[in-house]
Amino acid sequence: MKYIGAHVSASGGVENAPLNAKEIGADAFALFTKNQRQWFSQPLSAESIRLFRSRCEEYGFIPASILPHDSYLINLGHPSDEGLEKSRNSFIEEMRRCAELGLDRLNFHPGSHLKEISETESLRRVAESINIALDKTSGVTAVIENTAGQGSNLGYRFEHLAEIISQVEDKSRVGVCIDTCHSFAAGYDLVENYEAVMAEFDSVVGFGYLRGMHLNDAKKAVGSKVDRHEVLGGGFIGFDLFEKIVKDPRIDGIPLILETPDPQKWPQEIAMLQQWRG
Ligand SMILES: [Zn+2]
Ligand SMILES: [Zn+2]
Repeated sequence: MKYIGAHVSASGGVENAPLNAKEIGADAFALFTKNQRQWFSQPLSAESIRLFRSRCEEYGFIPASILPHDSYLINLGHPSDEGLEKSRNSFIEEMRRCAELGLDRLNFHPGSHLKEISETESLRRVAESINIALDKTSGVTAVIENTAGQGSNLGYRFEHLAEIISQVEDKSRVGVCIDTCHSFAAGYDLVENYEAVMAEFDSVVGFGYLRGMHLNDAKKAVGSKVDRHEVLGGGFIGFDLFEKIVKDPRIDGIPLILETPDPQKWPQEIAMLQQWRG
């Protein structure tokens, strides 16, 4: 069983996310558990937590169908000690918020070397950040997302994900999220070479680490390194890839999340994917 949904709004409180997901016919969702443009925020209220949990239960959203995303400010591979420390503290706070909500995973972008340190050193810092966060929290898996490789962002090669994982001590609490737009922009041609790319992912990282996927079409051509999402079927990827993913038996038991740019189209996109899923 694959869970299908979108990254919905949690404005007005996290407890609104399951409502918003239900409204668009989703059986999965992603959310920010706090304002994604702020480093730190007020703790979740007991009432927000209670409502979030009871609504998830009422609508049948189990933890395996929910993929929270962390703040874009966090850089766990930061070159400076100060930036690294702030990022680590903010990430730990986000891991704790997920645990309070009864969630079991947190999706994040690995980080950026900002052209000040090597990729290897930055990846080492990411792994160390994960080790610290796992040590200070419990029950939540750190889910590393692959990226388009824009700017100095790490994570545009499956090898980056594997290198981070190899340095994480508790491998039961580390996983990955594959974003179709990011993969395509990074040069993995899922359209022309689906089987070869998936086989490469399996041999470098392994399907056993897959904890979620982001289903997005791409506004720019393969290898562009430009991270611009497009509605399904409206970009360089096209519908076929999404049908293949939804029907791929190696991808199972995880949330498949739309981050496509037109929320008006989400009900239609979700219905189409659910139909392919059967
Ligand atoms: Zn992301
Ligand atoms: Zn994504």
